[in-house]
Amino acid sequence: MTYQANEKGYYGEFGGAFIPEMLYPNVEELRRQYLDIMKEDSFQKEFKALLKDYVGRPTPLYYAERFSKKYNTKVYLKREDLCHTGAHKVNNTVGQILMAKRLGKNRIIAETGAGQHGVATATVCALMGIECIVYMGEIDIERQAPNVARMKMLGAKVVPAKSGSKTLKDATNEAIRDWINNPVDTHYIIGSVVGPHPYPDMVARFQAIISEEIKTQLKEKENRENPDYIVACVGGGSNAAGAYFHYLDNPEVGIIAVEAAGKGIYTGESAATSALGKEGIIHGSKTLLMQTDDGQITEPYSISAGLDYPGVGPMHAHLFRSGRGEFISITDDAAMKAGLELAKLEGIIPAIESSHALAIFEDRKFKEDDVVVVNLSGRGDKDLNTYIDYFEL
Ligand SMILES: *Cc1c(COP(=O)(O)O)cnc(C)c1O
Repeated sequence: MTYQANEKGYYGEFGGAFIPEMLYPNVEELRRQYLDIMKEDSFQKEFKALLKDYVGRPTPLYYAERFSKKYNTKVYLKREDLCHTGAHKVNNTVGQILMAKRLGKNRIIAETGAGQHGVATATVCALMGIECIVYMGEIDIERQAPNVARMKMLGAKVVPAKSGSKTLKDATNEAIRDWINNPVDTHYIIGSVVGPHPYPDMVARFQAIISEEIKTQLKEKENRENPDYIVACVGGGSNAAGAYFHYLDNPEVGIIAVEAAGKGIYTGESAATSALGKEGIIHGSKTLLMQTDDGQITEPYSISAGLDYPGVGPMHAHLFRSGRGEFISITDDAAMKAGLELAKLEGIIPAIESSHALAIFEDRKFKEDDVVVVNLSGRGDKDLNTYIDYFEL
């Protein structure tokens, strides 16, 4: 029994690769080669060197003393907020740009919603001197001007998606169309543990550096590799997949996944996929997603752009369905309060996504000697305007 993907990319009943015929050669080329390439010594050496000197790893595992005291348990923060570009996303884009080079690709495409994945992709393309095209909904381009400017400074071309609701879904369609038309020279960098096999497994393996480091760091600090609980927020689920990865098959470690309840799970303005989702296919993968009775994907809502996604990756659908993971939904208000609290107690301003994970301590009680590791997925700089408006700062 394993909670890892099997050879066909299934986590239990979820996952797989449900793609149009035209995309098959691209995905199949990647599927055939990704594990062998990742195993190469030269690949691992280059990946680890960039993680160290470019991303700034290992990120600290920080014992949050005042926060722990308040909630009467031992809380460690895994500081992904200290990664170059401000979040965990760059771990994956560094891995995928090296993968693209090994596959002989000299053109990168990506889609982005709020722009965080677009920036992480444009960053590694600049690093490698590779052409970068980022598809982004026309409405998102208007809403996310600073990230559009960042991508442009980094040399990427930002192409507006003008169809449909002019947001992430439409940008994804444009990126897929591009990939179908450019199967030989182009690699498509997906930003979370979503999409057709092998993407969820490949992205999880790149992000697995997070739990690899936690094991070593916890051994130093607590003389044990395993926490009692590992906690992470879930949008698509990549920071969570990385934080859980080396603990998935260890039942001694409790896995806690935190979703965005938006204005409340049943208000119609939420992104609580486990509570509201039903089986369906999104972006080439069978998973849980929010949809109407006749299968139309429901527009998600969360105050945090990174959690504003109508599905979860197949690993998380399986963790939910099997009961291996404990799923908790946190409202906008509770997350904002927790973000402000961490700032005041520890001098760390978290991304609002990460604030959702911090907010569970209000209601979910732990034992005094429990060791609870929270993956602090990103820093709050990008969210300053939202914090300002919310708290009238
Ligand atoms: C994008 C993002 C997330 C959500 O993405 P996952 O794939 O679920 O990790 C969470 N936190 C931050 C800071 C992000 O930028």
